[in-house]
Amino acid sequence: MKRKRIVRSIFLWVLIAMLIFTVGMLILRPDFRFTAKQTLASIAANEKPEEISSDRLTLNKIPTDDLSGFTVDQSLMLVNRENILPDDFSADIVEYKDSGVEMNRCITDSYSELSKAVADNFGENLYIISSYRTAEEQNEIEDEQGSDTAMPSGSSEHQTGLALDVYVDKYAGKAFIKSEAGRFVNENCWKYGFIIRYPAAKKSVTGIDYEPWHIRYVGSPHAELISKGCVTLEEYYEELEYGKFYKYDGYIITRQNGEFLEIPQGKNCVISSDNMGGYVITVKE
Ligand SMILES: [Zn+2]
Repeated sequence: MKRKRIVRSIFLWVLIAMLIFTVGMLILRPDFRFTAKQTLASIAANEKPEEISSDRLTLNKIPTDDLSGFTVDQSLMLVNRENILPDDFSADIVEYKDSGVEMNRCITDSYSELSKAVADNFGENLYIISSYRTAEEQNEIEDEQGSDTAMPSGSSEHQTGLALDVYVDKYAGKAFIKSEAGRFVNENCWKYGFIIRYPAAKKSVTGIDYEPWHIRYVGSPHAELISKGCVTLEEYYEELEYGKFYKYDGYIITRQNGEFLEIPQGKNCVISSDNMGGYVITVKE
């Protein structure tokens, strides 16, 4: 009986110690508090595009081998270990504001707005430690770090120029989230068309630990849907079925494959490969 009572009291003390530790971490560590808040939000999140019938849309049938006259970019390519870039892939790269930093043409304006928001709100410069990488550069990183840590060539988003590793003064890498600017970027980058590509508690889907510094452009309204829905790009594509039409926040979204695309009439039509043999068409109503 006495032994049972001792075991019970040890268990109780361990429980109390764990509780004090957790409360202490929540009070003292803003990064811990932030990650806990994000994880809780992901449990309740249910933001999804609404599926609509194509009957209510005016559609133009266009052959996929002639998309001239449309805005075609690379913004929605899914790139990971399962979906590697084609051998003949060529990223649409430009230099960002004479900085020597190379990135995909479709993200420059959005990145400029995001970094301006960081400067305006916190008086901080948002720096880029890594942006576009060639296949050769990715190969070198894999050789240095091994394929468990580094993505093999063809499977890194950095080769598209759509991903940026960002930091502010004194807060780089995992410490980025300890800065106010870092938490702002993590919470608000969707407003500028970016997502946190490898969120906390999603390693089972992405295969990659939480990277608060790695932002990935997907554009509007996809960034809002992915962020508010607390899904990864992989999970988002499971929701967008080929041949179906969706509506969200004034946009029509459709993902299609085959020899022809049925493009809804509207403003600002953007077509991007999904890197899985299909296309995502985003049209503003
Ligand atoms: Zn990165």
